[in-house]
Amino acid sequence: MTDSTPPPPMPPGASGASPAPQAMRPGTYLRLRREAAGLTHRHIAIVLVPAGRADAAELRASMSRRLRLIESDDQAGSNPSPRDLDLVDQLGSVFAFSAAIYWLLVGIAADPESEIPVPQICRGCGCTWSDPCNERGRGCAWSAEDPSLCTTCADKAPANDLAEAGHAA
Ligand SMILES: [Zn+2]
Ligand SMILES: [Zn+2]
Repeated sequence: MTDSTPPPPMPPGASGASPAPQAMRPGTYLRLRREAAGLTHRHIAIVLVPAGRADAAELRASMSRRLRLIESDDQAGSNPSPRDLDLVDQLGSVFAFSAAIYWLLVGIAADPESEIPVPQICRGCGCTWSDPCNERGRGCAWSAEDPSLCTTCADKAPANDLAEAGHAA
């Protein structure tokens, strides 16, 4: 019986021979940013639909459905409806994400062969260079061990605890 698992083999570092990374889906990007803010679809609908409206409950339910649909990526690549354009616009006032990156990802999803450069996005929280984490006033950088994660997410990853082992003074 062993009490330690060998770490997975590390991919070769930035050698220039790595294949182009698959661009993140736009809906995934929005979901990561929403989750990083600790919000549910329901929270967002409550913020964006004023409580005073007689049909608030109905509007909130429909907004939650649209958010789920946008995040599911079922529509990515097809033409976003004017209502979705409007909703994505409104989301900017509820949690931090880059509309520019969202629409860039929509463009890439619609035309994967395009030469649009893929922005580097943390797969853990969706933060980017233009929209970094701000935990307790501290920003983040790309993790040296896993450049697809930012340092905030890499610090939270349990795998990091294993890397600490074997530290002797
Ligand atoms: Zn992150
Ligand atoms: Zn980050």
